Amino acid sequence: MIIAIDGPAASGKGTLAKKLAAHYRLRHLDTGLLYRAVAKSLLDAGHAPADEARAVAAAGAIDPAGFDENALKRYEVGEAASVVSAMPGVRAALFNFQQEFAAVPPGAVLDGRDIGTVICPNAEVKIFVTASPEIRAGRRASELRGRGESVDEADVLTDILRRDERDRSRSAAPLKQAPDAHLLDTTSLNIEAAFQAAVRLVESR
Ligand code: C5P
Repeated sequence: MIIAIDGPAASGKGTLAKKLAAHYRLRHLDTGLLYRAVAKSLLDAGHAPADEARAVAAAGAIDPAGFDENALKRYEVGEAASVVSAMPGVRAALFNFQQEFAAVPPGAVLDGRDIGTVICPNAEVKIFVTASPEIRAGRRASELRGRGESVDEADVLTDILRRDERDRSRSAAPLKQAPDAHLLDTTSLNIEAAFQAAVRLVESR
């Protein structure tokens, strides 16, 4: 079984994907980490995230087994990730890894922006997770604070809106709900309630 979870930044899709994977004993891939790793390798080498040739080369060389999730989840890495992720060459370089990950039995839960539309269009279950921008900004700010970063919630909101706009308007695999995806609005749901709602969607399928 493949479960595809898509949605905008800080919608709760990562937490949900992790919980669903544990519940159904499937492997989990947070595909945002792949784009973040590409971005981080550029930032670490002192290159601009907009340097397409270097971004494509970095995408071909990433090693998901060695990811340092804490470092990849940093604020500035997320910003740079949304720049490199708009490049078709970067997406093409990361495509096979994601499809192959999903294809290994007994299946997997993948979360990202284009899982239900591009990476796993035949996924058995597709969920598009969303929440109001203000709620998402609050969640992202507390996540970043939990990782030791000091952030201003208003700045995080501005960043989230800009990132959503960039992810939705790009021509390569834009963020959008697949026609056969279930919409799950987590604005007024806590983690457990969102998880229960997602389990109901999986079970109904
Ligand atoms: O989900 P996360 O915030 O970690 O993703 C970082 C960035 O990577 C997103 O803003 C988006 O631009 C990009 N991304 C993507 N496609 C995916 C996953 C993430 O374009 N499947």
